[in-house]
Amino acid sequence: MNCNYCEWRCDLTKGKGVCGMYELRGGDIVEKHPNKWSRCHGVYIERIPIFHAWPNKRFLQLGCFSCNAACAYCINASIAIGPQEPITFTMTPEEIVDLALKSNYKGIHFGINEVTVNLPSALAVSKAAKKQGLIVGCSTNAFFTQEVAKLFSDIFDFFNISLKSISDEFYKINLGLPSAVPVMRNIKYISSHAHVEITTPVVLHGNESELPQIADLLHSINPEMAWHIFRILPKHLMANDSPPDVEYLSAMVEKVKEKMPYTYFGNFIGSNWVDTICPNCGEIAIERMCDCACGAKFLKNNTLNGNCSNCGNKLPIIDDWGNDLC
Ligand code: SF4
Repeated sequence: MNCNYCEWRCDLTKGKGVCGMYELRGGDIVEKHPNKWSRCHGVYIERIPIFHAWPNKRFLQLGCFSCNAACAYCINASIAIGPQEPITFTMTPEEIVDLALKSNYKGIHFGINEVTVNLPSALAVSKAAKKQGLIVGCSTNAFFTQEVAKLFSDIFDFFNISLKSISDEFYKINLGLPSAVPVMRNIKYISSHAHVEITTPVVLHGNESELPQIADLLHSINPEMAWHIFRILPKHLMANDSPPDVEYLSAMVEKVKEKMPYTYFGNFIGSNWVDTICPNCGEIAIERMCDCACGAKFLKNNTLNGNCSNCGNKLPIIDDWGNDLC
């Protein structure tokens, strides 16, 4: 019997599957660790990073453990790859939603590890959260099946999708995944149903040169999409490698911004690339600071009901002023 949550489509009659998080019980595929979490903390949405939705709002961030990929540079390897299971705790969907409401959070975000590997628990939390009017989103590698893409886009309001490359070769060598094709297919589908931002972690001498081709692809899907170019400080198997060169990447970012005006570049102190600039007048619409943590710190919102307060240009930013989610 095959698991249809991600494109590995593991036959669980033959073993534990790539992620090791599901098993067969009474003819059904079930989670081995339902309602188990390794992380539960508050986070500003800019840290996810999501820059074009609910600026400066706090979300409850949840993570479980394991992954369906094995990125050689993974910065969360102790949680996502192992070798040991991290310490976990049990929280029911109701307890999680209650905590988010009491903390006055805007919603819930699934991150830290790949949400596909604990999908039933994440969906149960999401459904309970939506009933209470909370916003729900996730960070994902999007190597899930079309069935799951539909399921996710019906319930999640926002996604940060990691598109590491458009090359199958890069996915095979650096991520242990067989192909980039399902990821690109899912980005196309989900971005027509929910708010999507893309993150491309850049590895030295790895995928830097692909940025113009990735820009072409994203432009063909939605030229107003936020695209985060993330300078990886490699860990795990690449812990001894250097991070990519800031000057080289800055020149690339300058170039790709012609295609993708909302391209951001961070994970180094002093980045000038984390503000949202109005493409019409060139003024700063949302000001942020890069402090070398994930994403950026929100500083100032110069938009008015979704428009640039300088020139009135409509910006692709969602907040509580009534913009549609798509
Ligand atoms: S979610 Fe896990 S068990 Fe299911 S197909 Fe993917 S890797 Fe295999």
